[in-house]
Amino acid sequence: MINGVGVVTVLGGSLMPPEVIAAMEEAGRYFIPLPELQKKVGARLAELLQAPAAMVTCGAASAISVGTAACLSQGDPAKLRQLPGREGIKYEVIQQKSHRSGYEHQMEMAGAKVIAVETREELLNAINERTGMLFFLNKGEPHGKISGEEFIKIGKEKGIPTMNDCASDAVPKENLWKYTKMGYDLVIFSGGKALRGPQASGLLLGRKDLIEAALPAMSPYGGIGRGMKVGKEEMCGLLAAVERYLKVDHDAEWKILEGRVASIRAALQKTKGVETAQYIQPIQNQVPHVTVKWDEAARNLTSQQVTEKLLASDPPIHVQRPGKGELLISVWMMRGNEHEIVGRRLKEIFSA
Ligand SMILES: *Cc1c(COP(=O)(O)O)cnc(C)c1O
Repeated sequence: MINGVGVVTVLGGSLMPPEVIAAMEEAGRYFIPLPELQKKVGARLAELLQAPAAMVTCGAASAISVGTAACLSQGDPAKLRQLPGREGIKYEVIQQKSHRSGYEHQMEMAGAKVIAVETREELLNAINERTGMLFFLNKGEPHGKISGEEFIKIGKEKGIPTMNDCASDAVPKENLWKYTKMGYDLVIFSGGKALRGPQASGLLLGRKDLIEAALPAMSPYGGIGRGMKVGKEEMCGLLAAVERYLKVDHDAEWKILEGRVASIRAALQKTKGVETAQYIQPIQNQVPHVTVKWDEAARNLTSQQVTEKLLASDPPIHVQRPGKGELLISVWMMRGNEHEIVGRRLKEIFSA
């Protein structure tokens, strides 16, 4: 298939560059005490990403679970063993309604009860002696009534840890340290998205005591996240991916993406009634995309019909359909001349 959606878990995340594959392959040839490797890789990641501490998880969703377990158990092994049981646990997690992420279950499995609020006032009223964590969805920032800065300030004033899920916000690369420096206690990135690490990897960054509390929550220890094993291959693979990501010429990559956008737009240039543009989302996956817009009635062609035709192509082409008469195409994960195939196919569909 051709991936015109971008870095999304369901389509396979991203593709690992040779350095990452080599690191995984090498790791697969040695034995090593896993807790020792986790600590050393974590220390190196923390240094590279300017965070107080770091650990590798088996995905951003797994980081949410073990991060929540860390906040709820506060480094107390008895409390950690008890999760998801709530007796004596500060189990309430507060988030903004507009920050519902679809990953609430990952907090609930650690024992959390998720409470939704809208305003600063509601947040302050919702905080009580059972509050164990405040959850922020980074891409939700423009939609919420409470800004990240206010959220952090309230967390600090009340002594409640804040977690920011930035899973798909590793572009620009400065974001990798921006949010820990802003003051979030825990910050999460997906390893298998923009970082191009192993798909089953994630990063949990933040306060040293919380990372230390999160480690025993996960494999190979017997905590609530024992089923979320991170292998030596994923640890070494993610470290190699981060090292590469910090060195890559992002401006040169950006130009390649703009070239692909221009190529798809050029293919549709002479198709009457079809408007294309280069589009960069304000937050999340901030890279050049192509938007294609037309009047469905005038062309007697719906965006659903176009996406069906693209999926029925050989190879199948996956793109997003944000609304009527509209396509959103990500060129980020396209390989070789795939953008040319997409442009040709779109032209055929619109010219038929
Ligand atoms: C992709 C994503 C996740 C899950 O990431 P995995 O690495 O697949 O576990 C969590 N939160 C957000 C906001 C995401 O975009």
